[in-house]
Amino acid sequence: MSNIFKPYQASADLFKILAHPARLTILSILRDGEQCVCHIEAMLKLRQAYISQHLKVLKDAGIVSVRRDGWNMYYHITCPEVFVVIDTMFALSGHPEPIPHAHSNANCPCPKCHPEAGLPVSRQVIHSSE
Ligand SMILES: [Zn+2]
Repeated sequence: MSNIFKPYQASADLFKILAHPARLTILSILRDGEQCVCHIEAMLKLRQAYISQHLKVLKDAGIVSVRRDGWNMYYHITCPEVFVVIDTMFALSGHPEPIPHAHSNANCPCPKCHPEAGLPVSRQVIHSSE
């Protein structure tokens, strides 16, 4: 690749990270604070393997970070500036952020949605609606 592109490469790489609807949705869910992987799973109704793959891309890029608490893995935004770009993209595309930011979900077994539950519910409960 021509050297003239070199200064633009890092920015282009970052755009590539953001250029996926699954990753934009995950960032939207994490926007208002950290969430358990199981919460993201319950909101997207997708397999954990698929979600983990996208979380890894976001984590490797330094946009999110993970914290372990007992059985649960909580992801949070480490680079909030990313929402300046994302909000601009939403405005440019003419399609405002379609899903509300993270909210309580009756079908989600995470401790935030069910603080009274204590220990995490078995994964089978999450997949029962599939
Ligand atoms: Zn939840």
